[in-house]
Amino acid sequence: MSRMREEMKVVPRAAWVTAGCVYLGLVLILWFVAYRHEPGMGAWPEWLKVVFSAGVPLMMFLYVLFIGYVYGDARRRGMRHVMWTLLAILIPNAIGIILYFIVRYPLPRGCPKCGAAVSARFPFCPSCGTALAQTCPQCHRRLEPAWSHCAHCGASLQTANLRPPAPC
Ligand SMILES: [Zn+2]
Ligand SMILES: [Zn+2]
Repeated sequence: MSRMREEMKVVPRAAWVTAGCVYLGLVLILWFVAYRHEPGMGAWPEWLKVVFSAGVPLMMFLYVLFIGYVYGDARRRGMRHVMWTLLAILIPNAIGIILYFIVRYPLPRGCPKCGAAVSARFPFCPSCGTALAQTCPQCHRRLEPAWSHCAHCGASLQTANLRPPAPC
């Protein structure tokens, strides 16, 4: 539950406000415009009106919150948050949002030496230069644990040449 609360904090306040306005606006439009002036919807039984006006605005409310989450989450992960927010809004049927959850980077780690937040993509801390992952002795790019040769430059990875793994 506290994990959930932590994640909710990622959603910017503007998204909460927008979601609230969208929710209220839809409820008002349904009850004061659609049900009164739209002959088809006006003929609906009362229970259907209540269910519809509870469900649809709630779905839109959650949709706006998810877009806000993409914005805040992409930002803290060091991704292009504006681009991802636009994709989440513009690609229909929430496909932009789903795509985001598939490709998002891991959360930044704290540097063990200086405490700076470092994107998981980088093998070195940008503040103090501490190695945070095993890197190639020749090209200094990040290595996967199973490699016997560097996939970036082809250098042979003798264990003696390797930097010690970063303390976690
Ligand atoms: Zn550091
Ligand atoms: Zn290399």
